[in-house]
Amino acid sequence: MEKKADARSRALTLTFLGTRGEIDVHSRRHRRHSSLLIQCDTARIMVDCGADWLGRLGRVAPTAVVLTHAHSDHAAGLAAGAPCPVYATGETWALIHRFPVRDRRQMPLKKSIMIDGATFTAIPVEHSIRAPAVGYRVSAQDRRFFYLPDVAALPNASDALGGIDVYIGDGATIRRTMVRKRDGRLIGHTSVVAQLGWCKQAAVHWAVFTHCGSPIVRGNARKMHAALWRLGREHGVEACFASDGDRLTFLDGHGSRWTKHA
Ligand SMILES: [Zn+2]
Ligand SMILES: [Zn+2]
Repeated sequence: MEKKADARSRALTLTFLGTRGEIDVHSRRHRRHSSLLIQCDTARIMVDCGADWLGRLGRVAPTAVVLTHAHSDHAAGLAAGAPCPVYATGETWALIHRFPVRDRRQMPLKKSIMIDGATFTAIPVEHSIRAPAVGYRVSAQDRRFFYLPDVAALPNASDALGGIDVYIGDGATIRRTMVRKRDGRLIGHTSVVAQLGWCKQAAVHWAVFTHCGSPIVRGNARKMHAALWRLGREHGVEACFASDGDRLTFLDGHGSRWTKHA
């Protein structure tokens, strides 16, 4: 009995609180801006807190909030403050300095820090010039994953993604690239296909896409999932879209369980 309780407390659980990108439409499956809740032991670490989460932090009850960048679909949920420490890079803090967040923590770049028992390494990526973004390589309970909801380009993808159990990426667009060049830098969102290519290069066999764009949010869910599954197979990657409330539990040992919410 005691052993069972212990196994449960050691499990690492990722809950996709929201899976909607920066778009006007939403659906039952993709109702709120993309956000991931990491639970291990008593920690509840919320990664990103977009405008849809304003006034809803009480229910999430995070022990820490970690931001990828300052775009409103990732940070504006903090416009009335936060009930816990908030971690963000210096560039992100400069853009949201007006938010009444009391406990502000500086997220270093390319250097790991421990937050509530999980190790975070912020990796700078190309996405926006105005609101520079990072992706997070996270390890906890001997598991590793990469969370990258907004990305135009990931420098040294093989190094950044090497050895992870699952890649959680940008589902804004499946095939059509939404990358533009400005001042010699890449901005916007790369395709799911390009990200599957990074996974293949880094020998990552599992990819989940969040931050879903309009074609996915509006489209026929079954057809979209089937199309993504086939694309994944072509790259040797098991791939799916996350919906709000979906949960990924890494069990003690090597197993994992994917629980669909809707
Ligand atoms: Zn976004
Ligand atoms: Zn963004």
